This record gives sequence, C-alpha cells and structure tokens, in this order.
Amino acid sequence: MTAVSEASAAVLSDLRPQYGHFIDGDFESSTTTHFPAVNPATGEHLSDLARGGAADIDRAVQAAKAAFVNWRRTLPEERAAMLLRLADAIEADIERLAYLDALDIGRRVTETEIDHRIALGEFRFFAGAALNRTGFNRPIENGIAIARREPLGVIGAIIPWNVPAIMVAHKLAPALAAGNTVVLKPDEHASLSTLALCEHLAQIFPAGVVNVVTGLGEEAGAALTAHVDVRKLAFTGSSEVGRLVAIAAAERLAPVSLELGGKSPNIVFPDIDDIDGVVDNAAFAATYCNGQSCLAGTRLFVHEDVYDDVVGRLVAGVEKIALGSPIDPATGLSCLVSERQGKRVLDYVDIGRKEGAKLLTGGERSVVEGNEYGYFVQPTIFEATNEMRIAQEEIFGPVLSVIRWSNYETMIAQANGVRYGLAAGLYTTNIARALETADRLEVGSVWINKYFNLVDGSPIGGFKDSGYGSENSAETIDLYTHLKSVTLIGQPQAPFYLPR
Ligand code: NAD
Repeated sequence: MTAVSEASAAVLSDLRPQYGHFIDGDFESSTTTHFPAVNPATGEHLSDLARGGAADIDRAVQAAKAAFVNWRRTLPEERAAMLLRLADAIEADIERLAYLDALDIGRRVTETEIDHRIALGEFRFFAGAALNRTGFNRPIENGIAIARREPLGVIGAIIPWNVPAIMVAHKLAPALAAGNTVVLKPDEHASLSTLALCEHLAQIFPAGVVNVVTGLGEEAGAALTAHVDVRKLAFTGSSEVGRLVAIAAAERLAPVSLELGGKSPNIVFPDIDDIDGVVDNAAFAATYCNGQSCLAGTRLFVHEDVYDDVVGRLVAGVEKIALGSPIDPATGLSCLVSERQGKRVLDYVDIGRKEGAKLLTGGERSVVEGNEYGYFVQPTIFEATNEMRIAQEEIFGPVLSVIRWSNYETMIAQANGVRYGLAAGLYTTNIARALETADRLEVGSVWINKYFNLVDGSPIGGFKDSGYGSENSAETIDLYTHLKSVTLIGQPQAPFYLPR
C-alpha cells in the first residue's frame, strides 16, 4: 500500500457507518431516514447520513435558541479564545479533514487541504474581529452615548458542496465571533468534513452553540429557511435557490446574506510582458476546483495583439494537465461532484458546439483507471462570443470561453454584460489602465495580475445576481449584529420641551 492509500484507508476506517444530526453538543444516535454519502470517483459507499426534515430542524433551532441565552453574554475575549482553539484543532487534524473532502466530493486532496488552511485562517481572523468590532462610544454632556453590537440570535446557514471547509468558516466564524448561535445545513454531497468538524466543536464550544442538520435542500434546507425562530439566514449556493431563500426571509422580514453564482471575466491586455505567467493564471482560474468554483474565471478576454500567443500557449498548457484520482497528489484535475454535474457540464459542451463556438481542446469525459465511476471532464476551451450561452451561464466545470477583444469600451461592456458580478481578473503592466478597469467592473472582487488572490480579511461578495452581503471581512460582523444605541447621563434632565 502506498502512503497515500494508507492515509485514505485510515480516514475511511475512522468514518462511522451512520451519522445522526449534531444537536445540542452531540451526535444524535439514529434517525429513521438516511441518504448515502458516495465517493464520486469510485462509487464507493462512504457512510449513511441522517436525512433531516422540519422536526429535526426544529430540535436544532430550539437547542440553538436555548444556548443563545448564555452564549450572547460571553465576552468577546472568550469567543475569540474558542475560535483560536478551533483553528488549532483544524490545523492538527488537517490531513484527515482534507482526505474526507477529497473522498466525499472528488476534488484533489492538495486543493482540499488548502481549503482547510483558508478556513482556519478565517477562524483566526474573526477571533481578532470579535475584539475589535464591538460598537461605538462618545462622551456627551454629563454622560456617554454608546452603540453596542448585539448578536441577532439563531442564525440559519445553508452551504453548497464545492468548498465545504471554506463555506463552513464563512458562516460560523462571523456568526460565533458576534455572539450568535447557529444551525448549519451542509450540502447533501459534502457533509462528511463538517460532521468531522463537529467532533472538535463539541470539545470547544458550549452545547447548542453550533448545530448541524444534514439533509436535502428542499427538505431540511427549506425547513430552516421557514423557521420562525431563525433570526437571520446566511446562504451560499446557486442564484436560483438564493432567490427562494430571500423570499422565505422576506416573509418574516429576517435579514439575509447571499453568496451566489458567478461568470467572472479574466482580461488580458496587450501590454503584458510575462505571457507564461498570464497563461498560468488563466488556466488556474478556469480549472481550480475542477472548475466548480463560484469565483472561477470562465470568460477569458484576450486582446487581439496577443491572442494567438496567449491562446496557443493556454491550449498547450491545459492539454498537459494530468487527470487522475482525487487522492493522488500528482493529479492536476480530478472528477466532478456527481454524475448529474458531469452530465450537465457535458451538455454545455454540446450547447457550445451547437451555437457555433469553436472547440479548441477537450470536451470529452476521460476514464481514470480505478475511478471508472467518476466524471472526469477534460479541460475544455472554446473560442466563443459573449452572447453565447456557454459565455453567459454558470457551467460549474472546467469549461472556458475565450473571447477576442480589440476595443476597450466594447470589452468592458461585454465583461459587465452578464447577470452575475462576483469577481474579475486582469493582466497589464499599465497601472492607470488597471485601476480604471477595476473601477468600471461591476464585480465584488478584482484581482490584478494574480487570479484568486484571496487574503484573510478581504471581503468576498457579489453584485447583481451574485448576491449581497460580503463575507470574510471584519465588516461581516455587522451583518450578524444589531446596533443598539444607549445613552446615559448622571441624573434626570429636562427633555427637549416640557409637555404642559
Ligand atoms: P444549490 O443552490 O443547489 O445548493 C446550495 C445549498 O442549498 C445546498 O445545501 C442545498 O441543499 C440547499 N438547497 C437547495 N434547495 C433548497 C431550498 N429550496 N431551500 C433551502 N435550501 C436549499 O447550489 P449547488 O449546486 O450546491 O452549489 C453551486 C452553486 O453555489 C453555484 O451557483 C456557485 O456559484 C455557488 N457558490 C457561490 C459561492 C460564493 O461565495 N458566491 C461559493 C460557492 C458556491
């Protein structure tokens, strides 16, 4: 047995055959209905997970509501200390957590380990934010005016499958730092590492502060969005489901934050001097997470002066990417999360062909020995125009549309000419052009000369159909708190006017 297969066998032998929900500090023993967690590369059955419904959500919400009574009174210092302990626990357990995600969602273990590093960095960042974003105060005559940031109560969090570790951190870190309690529903394709994290949460946080209910979106997810005792909804996922969550929140005027889909432009200017560096970024932007990232750079705008050189090198580069098993560290691209997702991506390849886009490379499913069950889709590059469906719709696979440009104004209009507005990349040596373009792009993040340049504490959020309410930054605490104004003076004073 190789070291890699030994590590993954150890992780598998550690898995429970069945998981109940994690409610009030412990795993429930069993429920009557389950759904399977399946390895999307091999088809291997990994575990059975409780299929939550309205009654399970209600138990979790009641546990979170009861825990809130004391948790809201904890000092920011105490919450910060617990968040730091959680980060340390993730760091100590990172290999197991990374393998669990690789086995559960089919992404490369080298990537899923990076996810957990980003996640633990976020827990550490919010330990600091808990101490610093506590409110306002100023002296007034004979007294003081303060504004206290008070937690909202029970937060209902729903997350997708693509980067589970980061999604959990995006929701838990600010919610807990601000003194809220949480009911989290992970995605049905990606619950195992979150359940493993519950083992650490149970050691660090008081019972009921974090609760995890597994299950399907239209069952457990919908029940969580409808629960009257949930004081805020935090959702990451598709724009279609995000809209349903916003409607459910509007029914009872609960605040909601939404991190939704993307179709991000990645723009190459004619003055670039490091063509290989740009090509590496373009390939990475389109294939990281096997293309299943909301932030993926899926529309590459290349200026005509450098088009042939950039696109020629890009095609040659992606053809060298090694498709392989998620748990093999030598793998460059692995499988999509499910057969459904695989078929959806291949359908988009057909759509691209039919609407006249020129297929430059890829477009097929590959077979990886020992992983014949999985949908391994070759990195795929189309020469396209911005109006085509493959350039407008989120595919969520390793499919890139390359678009030639020559006129700056037309290119900017096209870059902004999609329903989404999540992120953008651009490559130029001209700083003035870079800053002007960053200003004009209707997106939440602009990365100049390095794609996915994620920094602890820098906001991640969308414009337009990509959602609202940035995560990952100190200001995110504001979305998880009320600002209560309190003024205090030493003794009664006459009001503005005397009611006589
Ligand atoms: P999805 O919207 O289908 O599912 C996301 C979550 O919502 C899952 O937990 C699912 O169970 C739940 N859900 C489904 N129907 C529901 C309902 N009716 N009520 C309540 N919950 C429901 O998304 P997906 O396919 O799992 O994930 C991919 C999407 O997520 C992509 O669009 C991607 O761009 C987006 N995403 C966005 C970000 C971001 O930060 N903006 C990050 C990651 C993923």
